[in-house]
This record gives sequence, structure tokens and C-alpha cells, in this order.
Amino acid sequence: MNNADFVARDLAVLWHPCTQMQDHEWLPLVPIRRGSGVWLEDYDGQRYLDAVSSWWVNLFGHANPRISSALARQAGELEHVIFGGFSHAPALRLAERLVDLTPPSLVRCFLADNGSSAVEVAIKMSFHYWRNVGVRGKRRVVNLTGAYHGETLGALGVGDVGLYRDPYVELLQAPLTAPSPDAYERSPGESWADVARRRLDDMQALLERHADEVCAVIVEPLVQCAGGMRMYHADYLKGLRALCDRYQVHLIADEIAVGFGRTGTLFACEQAGIAPDFLCLSKGLTGGYLPLAAVLTTDTVYQAFYADYASQRAFLHSHSYSGNPLGCAAALATLDIFAEEPVLQRNQALAAAMARETAHLQDHPHVAEVRQTGMILAIELVQDKASRRAYPWQERRGLRVYQHALQNGVLLRPLGNVVYFMPPYVISEDEIRLMAQVACAGIAQAVA
Ligand SMILES: *Cc1c(COP(=O)(O)O)cnc(C)c1O
Repeated sequence: MNNADFVARDLAVLWHPCTQMQDHEWLPLVPIRRGSGVWLEDYDGQRYLDAVSSWWVNLFGHANPRISSALARQAGELEHVIFGGFSHAPALRLAERLVDLTPPSLVRCFLADNGSSAVEVAIKMSFHYWRNVGVRGKRRVVNLTGAYHGETLGALGVGDVGLYRDPYVELLQAPLTAPSPDAYERSPGESWADVARRRLDDMQALLERHADEVCAVIVEPLVQCAGGMRMYHADYLKGLRALCDRYQVHLIADEIAVGFGRTGTLFACEQAGIAPDFLCLSKGLTGGYLPLAAVLTTDTVYQAFYADYASQRAFLHSHSYSGNPLGCAAALATLDIFAEEPVLQRNQALAAAMARETAHLQDHPHVAEVRQTGMILAIELVQDKASRRAYPWQERRGLRVYQHALQNGVLLRPLGNVVYFMPPYVISEDEIRLMAQVACAGIAQAVA
């Protein structure tokens, strides 16, 4: 089978995610036969450097020998078992290790099977906690402008990306929305820390008015990824933790995208020295192998549910594949790599290489800024540099970068006008150079 044969059959039966399927009348769908390290290979033998870690999930390369063999071993022992009333070693070991790796106050691990579910678990637990402890009326969630927390109705309900949210708004809970500390929106002369301080004042004003009806504040620590790789200062998290304590609301840290080393530390919250009440993990948790999610929480939360059955306080939430042993085995193999190799240290050199190879873009007439947090680097394209006027979305400038990159063997997938790199940690400096060269050439074409 070649690409054309594959695509004809695919487009006859499949409906792909996050896609206007009609685009594929002119935009090639790319069927992938195999992967190895940062490389993907299609049915015509063309190779693509996966600069987006296949939607931010892959950490240590495709078909990683170590994770693959752990998975094969587990599949030979136990593929799955009901997780209510039963347990198994991969889940136990994973929970122990996540509790060890996260802040000391996070002592309980609830397993779900994708990121959106993890967000919904955290929201339900927070709401239910207040109910169980007898505090009535705390039912709303505070989110940030530009937030993204997933696509299922509960998770979409606390998101703020209009493209995904607006068509369904009548189906969604209305959150209370505070302005993001997004440093791109700083005024002339303002630092990232200044924006954080100003936005904490906004959050305080909101909580001052609404804390009685709020169960939790949910944020993506340090980088709002799907909202356009918008970044902010760690001081915001520090201040937000204090505000949540002061106003008696939970803090939910959605580290689904930024966890597992993306921002330079294993978890982004570490850079602020804070512990959330709920920590949501998924994506990189299994190294990009299988859907699995974990929600870590405190003993205080756990104890509010721990009671006589007849008191009806239990958290009666489940998914068929809760705690799937294969997913847990992939996660354990991924954590083994973190434990045995100097991953974060190596990533510092890779992050520096990404900065070096894109530094010249700072002066590009259609680049508003090149920003970076650890292993995430983003290039914001604008129509007018001085006023930062964005290109009209209808022009789909980022899509031109995507097309150019594909033709040149790199998988980039810009978010609107934001071109970004979020590669697997096994990328080499030569591959970073290639990725940056292709991105720069694609940008030149896209703004021409
Ligand atoms: C991807 C993502 C989610 C949703 O995870 P899924 O597994 O796609 O449901 C939630 N929050 C953030 C920050 C994400 O990036």
C-alpha cells in the first residue's frame, strides 16, 4: 500500500479529530507506517521529524525499546482487570512513585484514562469535597482566559478557547473567568513578574466577590499550551496558592501538557515551590504510549470522602479502563528512564539549542516574539510587529508553515499563528537545527 491507496480508504470511513475533513480534499492526510525516535515514516517512505511529540505526549521517542518491552512483558502477564474491588502491581507501583515524585501533601492517586477525564475527576472531587464537609453553594470553577482543559463537556466547560468552546456553549457550565497572567500581553516596560502581580490583583478581586460560590480555581501551570503556548511567571502560581488558601477554594493544577519535564522541572509547580490540592497528569505519563491519567490529591480531601457507606460520601466515579495495567506499565518504564538518566539536565542543553537556532527570528518583521519555557519554544507570527496586530485567522498562515514543513520532512502543527516546538527529549542538536531551519523557511513562505 502507498500513501494514496491508504488515504482513499481512510477518507471513506474515518473521521479524524480536530479536523475539518473537507480540508483533506487538498491537504494531504499522512498515513504513518512506523516510527523510531523522533522520526515518523509514511507509506511512501517519506520521513518526518515529530516536532510536536504527536500532540505533546511522546517523551522518549517512538517505538522506544525500553517502554515497548515493558509493555510486551505486561501484556503477557495481565492486560486488564476490573479496578473496583481488585488491584494489581503496576497500579500500586505507579501510585507509590507518583506520590513520591510530587509534593509531600499529595498522598492519594486516583487513576483515570485520559486528560479530560482527569480534569473532570478533579472538578467533581473538589465540588464533592465541599458538599461532604457541609459547605453549601460552592459549585463554580474559576478558570483563566485562554485556558484549555480538554474536550469532554465538563472539561470544555472550564476551557476558554473559543474555537473549541463556542459551538457548544449552551451545553456547558459557565465558569468564572479571570484574566490570564499571559506575559505576551504585557505593556511596554512591564516584566513577566509585573504582569503576574497585576493579574493576581484581578484574581483576588474575583475571589473576594465570589469565593462563597467557588469550589476551585483551575490553571495550566506556567504555559497555556492549546491557547497558543502563552507563558507566564511562576510568581503567579505562588500568589494564586496564597489566594486559594485565603479564600478557601481548591487549586487544581492541570499539568497534563506541562508535566514530566516540559517546562524544565519534572512538574511546573516546582518552579513556584507550591503544591496544588489536585494535580492532573496524563499525556507524557505513559511516554506517549497509551491513554492513562492520574489525579493526585491531599489527605484532607481523601478523608472527607472516607466514611461509613450509609453516609453516601464515597466518590462513585469510574471508567471501564481505570488503572489499566498496560498503561501503568508504560508509565513505570517512562519513570524508570527519568530515574536512571539525566533527562532534565540533558534537556537544558537541548532547550538552549532551540533558543540559539531561533534567536535570529526575534528581529523578523512578522515575528512578535520568540518565547520559551524549558522544552517548549513558541514563535508568534503577526501582521504588524509594532502594534502586534494579528493576522486574520481566515488567512490560515500557520497552516502554510505546516504544509511547507511537511514537504520538508518536519511535523510542525502551529496553533493559529503560533509556530512552536515541543519535541521528544531524544531529539539531537542536529535535528533541532533541521527543525528550526525548516520552521524558519516555512515562516518566510507563510508571511510572503
Ligand atoms: C491535552 C490537554 C487536556 C486533555 O487531555 P486529553 O487526554 O486530550 O483529553 C487537558 N488539559 C491540558 C492542559 C491539555 O493540554
